Amino acid sequence: MGESVIPLADLRYAAAVPEIPAHLREPTGHLSDALDRPLRDLRISVTDRCNFRCGYCMPREVFDRDYQFLPHSSLLTFEEITRLARIFGAHGVTKLRLTGGEPLLRKGIEELVAMLVEVRGANGAPLEVTLTTNGSLLARKAAALKVAGLSRVTVSLDALDDAVFRRMNDADFPVAEVLAGIEAAQAAGLAPIKVNMVVQRGVNDAEVLPMARRFRGSGSVLRFIEYMDVGATNGWRMDQVMPSAQLLERLQATWPLEPLPASAPGETAERWRYRDGAGEIGFISSVTRAFCRDCNRARLSTEGKLFTCLFATGGHDLRALLRGGRSDLEISSALAQLWGQRRDRYSELRSAHGTTSANNERRIEMHYIGG
Ligand code: SAM
Repeated sequence: MGESVIPLADLRYAAAVPEIPAHLREPTGHLSDALDRPLRDLRISVTDRCNFRCGYCMPREVFDRDYQFLPHSSLLTFEEITRLARIFGAHGVTKLRLTGGEPLLRKGIEELVAMLVEVRGANGAPLEVTLTTNGSLLARKAAALKVAGLSRVTVSLDALDDAVFRRMNDADFPVAEVLAGIEAAQAAGLAPIKVNMVVQRGVNDAEVLPMARRFRGSGSVLRFIEYMDVGATNGWRMDQVMPSAQLLERLQATWPLEPLPASAPGETAERWRYRDGAGEIGFISSVTRAFCRDCNRARLSTEGKLFTCLFATGGHDLRALLRGGRSDLEISSALAQLWGQRRDRYSELRSAHGTTSANNERRIEMHYIGG
């Protein structure tokens, strides 16, 4: 008798199939949630696989050889992603960010970009299509991504010191290749490039000044991310978080900085500028100053579940609607209803539970719903 294999990854989250409202409504180009926050930004995870094993995201103990990644048939196809992008665009989404896992591992990613840049938003303008990558394949892919129509890239890079970087990615990957990727992206015109650094006290905080020095005056914007609690996966401890305020103080001691106004509502990073004109840096204070109040982001997981908060306890299975023969109008109406009911504010849960996870029992799968 053949063994039946249960794909555990598919059972990871409770995902309700969204209800189709009795009255279907054409999208108006604007949705507001229960706290009056619009929907503007959609992050799409295109793969749950990554070639890095960063301890704060996909630690090797969990994501080992036996880990069951999603089968290809579970992934949304490019056509399904593009169809959803069209529906989200009609509701007022203006920006798409491809993420993962490592998005450049998804075969044919350039084709997806080319399909997404054809989508028109509610105002008739194309959506901005961006991508977040660990940079490992960027030197090879930057030019093709630009030709496909990608606007910009964000590259995650936690250290300049090769030994620290190899230890953190736990894949023995050299920093020089990521730096070459950043240069290739710059040369291809995928600028301004943002460089995201997750700072963990005692792990890579000694890299903060060298990273700032490296990217000052380069045209790339370095952003420091507070190390977030992603549940039991990474053994998060508050004392490993480097609060942005402390980092700012450290940087100010070397280079005078001044604050800049937010460039867009709902922007995650607080922006600062070097007073000597060498560009800007940003702080993403997900822990000490959670930015739930004007969060306008939704996340689409690799197999089509919609998360209306990074820390939501369940997703909404849009793939079931796509594959169940529902019309655009039905899916669009279901989405409008879901967004209208959205009340997520994980900052409140954190103050109630003392962690940034809504539920410490649950692992937040960054590789699956994207960062
Ligand atoms: N593989 C791509 C990359 O490395 O950018 C995209 C996916 S990754 C999950 C997206 C972002 O989430 C990265 O910048 C990563 O550093 C960030 N991230 C992952 N786990 C995190 C954590 N525990 N705290 C803060 N940021 C985290």
